[in-house]
Amino acid sequence: MKVLVVGGGLAGSLLALELRQRGLAVALIDGGTGQSATAWSYGGVAIAATPLGQLLATPAQRWQQLEQRYGPLGWRSCDLKLHGGDSQGPVIAGRVDTRQLMARLPVLLAAEGVELWPWAAVAITPSTTGWQLRLANGETLDGNALVLAAGAGCRALWPELSPRLRISWAGVLQLAAIPPGYGDNQLLLPSQFQRLALERRAADLDGEDWVVDVGLAPWGEAALAGQISLVRPQLELGSPPEAALMEARLRAAWRAFDPTLERHFLTYQQVAVSFCDQGLPLVGPVPKAPGLWQFSGFSGGFSQVPVLAPILADAISGEVTGGAAMGRELIGV
Ligand SMILES: Cc1cc2nc3c(=O)[nH]c(=O)nc-3n(C[C@H](O)[C@H](O)[C@H](O)COP(=O)(O)OP(=O)(O)OC[C@H]3O[C@@H](n4cnc5c(N)ncnc54)[C@H](O)[C@@H]3O)c2cc1C
Repeated sequence: MKVLVVGGGLAGSLLALELRQRGLAVALIDGGTGQSATAWSYGGVAIAATPLGQLLATPAQRWQQLEQRYGPLGWRSCDLKLHGGDSQGPVIAGRVDTRQLMARLPVLLAAEGVELWPWAAVAITPSTTGWQLRLANGETLDGNALVLAAGAGCRALWPELSPRLRISWAGVLQLAAIPPGYGDNQLLLPSQFQRLALERRAADLDGEDWVVDVGLAPWGEAALAGQISLVRPQLELGSPPEAALMEARLRAAWRAFDPTLERHFLTYQQVAVSFCDQGLPLVGPVPKAPGLWQFSGFSGGFSQVPVLAPILADAISGEVTGGAAMGRELIGV
């Protein structure tokens, strides 16, 4: 059995590895622009009272298991510093250094026998043996199953995906090094994320809306300071928001929080991120499309993906294991 996985961010990559563990042939297709949400993420691994409940209580152990199997992926414990308000805030089990992860993944995937196709997928169609995918270079690939793990690029390939799947634009400022006064293993986060509240009201928006959650995370030897999030009412990706305006809004929020940091900011980066407005990601078979699977819409991918990827891989490969029963029920397989 051959599986085509579209999207080489966190979701597609960890799923591809799990499918290889089950002995399946896997082709991973990624547009190769480097513009994944994963690349610019803080990588914080939160333990939260999410609807995924008990299942997601183990992300730290999952990252440790993955490192035992594959070697260093950037997992580390971290010092959490919360600001703003006296609510309890998120519980963070650790973080994954996303710069290290993104450098490691292509090497690891190739070593594990995943075929890597550095082209964007432009169309997918059912075929007599499963699914056919057309690449931007004109080539076609055939597989028995196809997984949409392309984050904000999923809906362009299959517009009938659930309207729960939405897109935000996220922006961060890059710093050359961790600035003075900020610990080199410290994750600075707001005690209340406005992004999550904005995501929850996405379906009710009349026009675009944006929020800034001041936060800072190490990123290799460098650091990322964020984050501005912009959400529009429509489901389609649309054009990116004006970068200069987004950057100015983010800088203004940082100036109010810590004016000493301004001189450390280098470039502004923004990227499209998929999320689901009710929190639960899209994981499982795509309705009315046999052999087509979805693995997208993660608001906290670093907690959710490592736990859900093995369950989805079991479902795709037809394996049934008792331990994953709760997960299968959850994802509807
Ligand atoms: C600033 C910021 C901070 C964050 N902080 C955290 C955090 O602390 N903790 C946490 O858990 N989450 C965090 N997140 C969210 C987290 O990054 C995402 O949940 C996660 O990275 C989603 O991974 P993904 O693989 O679904 O999507 P992506 O990483 O976006 O990957 C999708 C991939 O699909 C590819 N693609 C798209 N369309 C096509 C196509 N047509 N053909 C081929 N390839 C295609 C893209 O190139 C991309 O590589 C943060 C996000 C941002 C932006």
